[in-house]
Amino acid sequence: MLIEGRGLAHTYPGGVEALADLDLSISTGELICILGPNGAGKSTLLKALAGLLPITAGSIAWRGEPMISWSPKQRARRLAFVPQSLMALPEVTVGTFVAQGRYAHQGVFTRVTPEDRQAVEQALEQADLADLADRAMPDLSGGQRQRCLVARALAQQSELLLIDEPTNALDPEHQIAIFQLIESLTHEERAVAVVTHDLNLASQFASRIVLLNEGRKVADGTVNEVLERSVLEPVYGPGLRYSSWKIEEGGAGDSGERPIVLPWRSNS
Ligand code: ADP
Repeated sequence: MLIEGRGLAHTYPGGVEALADLDLSISTGELICILGPNGAGKSTLLKALAGLLPITAGSIAWRGEPMISWSPKQRARRLAFVPQSLMALPEVTVGTFVAQGRYAHQGVFTRVTPEDRQAVEQALEQADLADLADRAMPDLSGGQRQRCLVARALAQQSELLLIDEPTNALDPEHQIAIFQLIESLTHEERAVAVVTHDLNLASQFASRIVLLNEGRKVADGTVNEVLERSVLEPVYGPGLRYSSWKIEEGGAGDSGERPIVLPWRSNS
């Protein structure tokens, strides 16, 4: 077990109970998709696991060890958080921005090492950004910026990536590319938890799906266990159509069929 949260709760100042009594564990090699409607608590959960928000109840352990007293650098060597977007766009090049992911590996006075350079080059390559390394961040499209955020986390070379909606500004080709990249990390002794609204990308890539609603975990299981009407309808309502797609070669799921779930116009 890489990380284990037990009885997690977070109440925002003002009294919004965004997470309540939530258990979640993540093991090496897993690609967990965290689903749920707007306001379900998905971002709050990722930030709590990343140590960016304090939990108001419960505990989080890393390989069985409490994380509470860890410094930001100690955390960053183990886990990387990828936000949905940046509050302020840094006036730096893509290469410099991605290199910031190395800070957890660097001492105050140490120079950039060959390992740092290699990690940054590899991250740029993996996120299909090598050609843009010298471009200024503010000159990029929304999708390119989102890939920069993922690349910065890749450069961090941590064992767990917590990624908040990585595909919402991406065209279909890059959506698949990002998920394929994320999936490839799970083959390198890493684990990834991804918040997404895309039920069909989750269907194709998740090794496990966690469904949240109103701050609570309402389902935690395989793609076929969670992406079905009896589980989703109480959370998303009746406006979805359900089908399945036969796949040629086995992926992360547990059969040759993948559920397809589509938002569908109502007849009324
Ligand atoms: P999700 O990511 O599933 O859309 P969030 O974790 O962002 O949900 O939010 C969960 C709940 O917490 C929502 O009701 C949201 O309005 C509330 N919330 C989120 N951020 C804050 C904040 N900074 N202050 C107060 N309430 C917040």
